[in-house]
Amino acid sequence: MDVPTELTLREGIYAGLMELIVLWDIDHTLIDNSGVSKEIYGGAFTALTGAAPTRPARTEGRTDRLIMRDMFALDGLPEPEWSVVEGALARAGEDRFEDLRRRGTALPGVREILKAASAQDSWVSSVLTGNIAANARVKVSAFGLDSLLDLSVGAYGADALQRPDLVAVARERVQRLRGVREGTPVVLVGDTPRDVEAALATGSGIIAVASGIHTPEELATAGASEVLPDLSDTGRLLQILETFAAR
Ligand SMILES: [Mg+2]
Repeated sequence: MDVPTELTLREGIYAGLMELIVLWDIDHTLIDNSGVSKEIYGGAFTALTGAAPTRPARTEGRTDRLIMRDMFALDGLPEPEWSVVEGALARAGEDRFEDLRRRGTALPGVREILKAASAQDSWVSSVLTGNIAANARVKVSAFGLDSLLDLSVGAYGADALQRPDLVAVARERVQRLRGVREGTPVVLVGDTPRDVEAALATGSGIIAVASGIHTPEELATAGASEVLPDLSDTGRLLQILETFAAR
């Protein structure tokens, strides 16, 4: 039998303390979809109603359930049952995969930081997004990011109506499927005040990135303690994530 030395014990304790769940938002955090996202909602709405929506979808950190519900309400139409809406969204997303790949882009530093996070043995790196799971996969796959994320433990737009409720969904999946301890710190990374709100409401850490329409000031006012212009500074990001892991 191997008797653990003081060093291996310390390493074990250290590794245990450093467990972390990192959950990345997708749109305007990992990728720029160049308007394809709004076209997906519009396309799904048209497929379901036979007419284009009078106003484009309001997105900004909302879940797909909420976005589609708003679109039907704004046009004064009854919303079909969710499984039908989700099916239409998935088809609209699949149809626009090539469009997204051509017009969109992975944001600066994303590939590098996702690689670095996935290389940390005691971290789980997944997504927390308002997109339904099928379209989240379409969006990250379009730029080859799918292999750098543990997508099966993420939380998605079909899992809840309100974004803060997605945190518990992801946490439960990570604990059940990856054996991460209860109470392991969660950090959200996102570009809207709704990402910040989801973190604050659930006792999660937040790294806000001003790579969407919201300014650093708006994100700080929303309550983000860490605000970065984008994800391009891999070293700084790892440092911040390690700080959260050590809490
Ligand atoms: Mg976003």
